[in-house]
Amino acid sequence: MTTVITGGAGFLGSHLCDRFIRDGHDVICVDNLITGSEDNIRHLLGRREFTFLEQDVSEHIEIDRNIDNVLHFASPASPIDYLVLPIQTMKVGSLGTHNALGLAKAKGARFLLASTSEVYGAPEIHPQPESYWGSVNPIGVRGVYDEAKRFSEAMTMAYHRAHGLETRIIRIFNTYGSRMRPNDGRALPAFISQALANEPITIFGDGSQTRSFCYVDDLVEGIVRLLASDEVYPVNIGNPEEISILNVAKEIIQLTGSSSELTLHPLPQDDPKVRQPDITRAKTILGWAPTVARDEGLKKAIEYFREVLNIQTNALREEIAYLQSA
Ligand code: NAD
Repeated sequence: MTTVITGGAGFLGSHLCDRFIRDGHDVICVDNLITGSEDNIRHLLGRREFTFLEQDVSEHIEIDRNIDNVLHFASPASPIDYLVLPIQTMKVGSLGTHNALGLAKAKGARFLLASTSEVYGAPEIHPQPESYWGSVNPIGVRGVYDEAKRFSEAMTMAYHRAHGLETRIIRIFNTYGSRMRPNDGRALPAFISQALANEPITIFGDGSQTRSFCYVDDLVEGIVRLLASDEVYPVNIGNPEEISILNVAKEIIQLTGSSSELTLHPLPQDDPKVRQPDITRAKTILGWAPTVARDEGLKKAIEYFREVLNIQTNALREEIAYLQSA
């Protein structure tokens, strides 16, 4: 089996590269490193089963090999990234998805789209089942991401219907774990980094808004099962255990033993008030449910961030010492 993973040098993509290699696939990672990093795949570089192509998938993708699966994960994904990269986000969701679908069609490969719970926008239905069509503000600042993903779902269904392509669509809810960037603007990396540094924790709004956090290993297992299934319609994968942002910040303070205080800041535009997946379809179709409890997952993520932040602090100290001695 040869599996192409676009966005394979990112947080989720690099975990998928690891998993598919472990499962015996040859993996071709296509990434332009706009929000990802070679650090995430450095341990795979040089392995016979792994190929890295540094390429923008919004441009034509040409790969001169047989391919069995195309997993399309390339896209800026954190609010900070897509607010800074609005046009690249729309291009990779539209042109990039078209190119990735074209590659799958040319190779007779199966295609899996990484969609998102953001297609539900600010939801009026709670928890969110796949049958809910969503409530997205197309012209708001977050619209670039939400609408690009909605377009990419429509394009995927069009390729399935028009060309008979074997397609899968996963709607991913907030996922966390190692290889997230400490400063990527998402709540958990920000809270953990701030707690480890004993700095004030920045809560947007009053912290009553809810999220449901899934540990990365659980998500990867859901993706593997969906790819192997026959399911063409979208499937939510996420952890239905819902928690307010305020309470997750308190949990992190407790798990890190931090002396950080909580500080409240204005809520960004169109920030969803609630977010919780209805995973009935994932349970019945894939036999999937999350297995990692939040405190267990958070402990692992905290260890990862502790290590990364130590490395960054040591590098900074060395640089300062060097500059002072120069
Ligand atoms: P990430 O930013 O870590 O990874 C995205 C990767 O895509 C990066 O390596 C980036 O360099 C690459 N990329 C972006 N534009 C590209 C382009 N034009 N050409 C080639 N490569 C490009 O983000 P992530 O959290 O790993 O998200 C991966 C995918 O999963 C995204 O499609 C995202 O929308 C989806 N998703 C993630 C979450 C989550 O909680 N992490 C939730 C919902 C959906």
